[in-house]
Amino acid sequence: MALPGGVERDYSLARLTTVRAGGDAELFARPRSARELVDLLAWAAADGIAVEAVGSGSNLLVADAGVRGLVLKLDGELSTIEREGTMLVCGGGVRLPSAAAKAAGWGLGGLEFGINIPGTVGGAVRMNANAYGGQLARVLEWVEVCTAAGAERRVPDELGFAYRSSNLGPGEVVSRAAFGLAEAEPAAVKAILAEMRAKRREAQPSGIKTFGSTFKNPDDPRAEGRTAGQLLEAAGCRGLAAGGARFSPKHANFVENTGSATTADVLSVMAAGRRRVKERFGVELEPEVQVLGEVEWPQGWER
Ligand SMILES: Cc1cc2nc3c(=O)[nH]c(=O)nc-3n(C[C@H](O)[C@H](O)[C@H](O)COP(=O)(O)OP(=O)(O)OC[C@H]3O[C@@H](n4cnc5c(N)ncnc54)[C@H](O)[C@@H]3O)c2cc1C
Repeated sequence: MALPGGVERDYSLARLTTVRAGGDAELFARPRSARELVDLLAWAAADGIAVEAVGSGSNLLVADAGVRGLVLKLDGELSTIEREGTMLVCGGGVRLPSAAAKAAGWGLGGLEFGINIPGTVGGAVRMNANAYGGQLARVLEWVEVCTAAGAERRVPDELGFAYRSSNLGPGEVVSRAAFGLAEAEPAAVKAILAEMRAKRREAQPSGIKTFGSTFKNPDDPRAEGRTAGQLLEAAGCRGLAAGGARFSPKHANFVENTGSATTADVLSVMAAGRRRVKERFGVELEPEVQVLGEVEWPQGWER
């Protein structure tokens, strides 16, 4: 098959994820503009090639056997930050902490919650990311979504936001997003960022290879209001290991790659934790982490 310019074969994805595990993308490209992105999506659609996007890979588990089809990582114009009055217009590939810091420097408040979410704007929209009550939808003005048919703007009401999810599918890539912010004193916004960083440092392990929350907080009366982390901890999962993967000793809902974890190791420790919580509390935890490629869920997963 002849490939368009810039498309590579067998590209290692592990280094594009924060947990540093998993195999290769069959095809990989870094579109640098909405035009390039739409052209790639149209080429893939015409050839029946599946497409997935990766952002910072901070909520991503890649199959050890790799991912069939085309994987895209946004670059160039799609990772720049601009100011339009009190609006911050970001490429889908911009890291949320960079957007939050830039907004602070420009004296714009409202995006502070992004300082602790180590994902991109596109990944945050797809996942409806949130931290400390600062909802994304509250400041999001519009999103530019590229598909094989072209680029179009959507407003938050059209994105089907629910807890850690949106209605965006694999062939729909967030290329830009605009946040409506409020003028504020740069020093005051920076002080909030510092406070939020400190709060996070206390609550979560840092410097580990992880994808953040493994399971969603359950909406199940048997959980009695407890978070996924609290249930895992009560079920004795802190430090529970399988191969090179373990539940963090500091935060039971974080799985950590201790050196040489495969995705199979991660799935197996997830299955063990989920089983313990099911046995102890009757609650079935659902993964928050997104999986790229085909994986074999360990026996007894009962999804
Ligand atoms: C230490 C740590 C702390 C975290 N804390 C939080 C937190 O407080 N709150 C929170 O909500 N999350 C948190 N996360 C999880 C993660 O950062 C968020 O889910 C983030 O929004 C994922 O963005 P990403 O760019 O890394 O997406 P990825 O992990 O690369 O991808 C996630 C999903 O988004 C899709 N995607 C990526 N880019 C695009 C795009 N441009 N267009 C369309 N789809 C796309 C992918 O295909 C995949 O389905 C944390 C993660 C870590 C490692």
